Amino acid sequence: MDVIFHGVRGSTPTADQNFLKYGGSTTCTEILHEQFQVIFDAGTGFQNVTILKDRPTYLIFSHFHYDHIQGLPFNHQIFDPSNKVTISSGLVKAEELREVFVRAFQPMYFPIPLVDTLKNLKFVEFDLIANELMDLCSLSTIQLNHPGGAAGYIIETENKKVCVFLDHEYGQEPTIDNELLLIAKESDLVVWDGMFLNEELAPKKGWGHSSIEQGITFSEKTACKNLAIAHHAPNRNDQQLNEHSNNLSSDKVFFAYQGLSHSV
Ligand SMILES: [Zn+2]
Ligand SMILES: [Zn+2]
Repeated sequence: MDVIFHGVRGSTPTADQNFLKYGGSTTCTEILHEQFQVIFDAGTGFQNVTILKDRPTYLIFSHFHYDHIQGLPFNHQIFDPSNKVTISSGLVKAEELREVFVRAFQPMYFPIPLVDTLKNLKFVEFDLIANELMDLCSLSTIQLNHPGGAAGYIIETENKKVCVFLDHEYGQEPTIDNELLLIAKESDLVVWDGMFLNEELAPKKGWGHSSIEQGITFSEKTACKNLAIAHHAPNRNDQQLNEHSNNLSSDKVFFAYQGLSHSV
């Protein structure tokens, strides 16, 4: 399977010549398998996703902060009624999930009532989706430490394991961290929330994000094959990210950039 990073910016999109390499679109990560596509979150990077007609499309949300949902109506392909998109989340039940999007995209915040307009969007319980995919992959969810809650995801197929842990604050809830360490053990890829540097963590305690350095620790503790730093701080430009990337003490950790396709 391929992991495609359509948006790797955290919190808010950026558009500036100094942000072109890593990209300014907010979080959206696609798992492309020859028989299905799973898209984790619909930040503004969602507009870069190609919705495939030859396999089912699952759009699965970690949580509903703006940087993870804002792009939903801006991929024009969802307005094509022949594109059936199944929406789900490990965080809430399907009915509540539907309500989240009814509220978020109604005329107070968005010109048209999106959910009522798009009959091709189907809101389905996470367990049902996991069952539906059972013959092709194992898809599971795990609790992350984030204000308001967030769900991480683990997808395994053909002896390959990918973990997507956005957004998560490492080092504050040992029970949650231990579960993550356990489940991510020897993963082929972990997608990591590297919003901060260690030196920035103290004043941002409780904001729900981890550091780049904690990503390195996590990669060592889990002995994962690769760890992709994502959810880059909105003010961290290409030059700064390049410097951090060049100074990495691990050769299995890399900085994800918009448009990167990583095969596992
Ligand atoms: Zn976020
Ligand atoms: Zn968040």
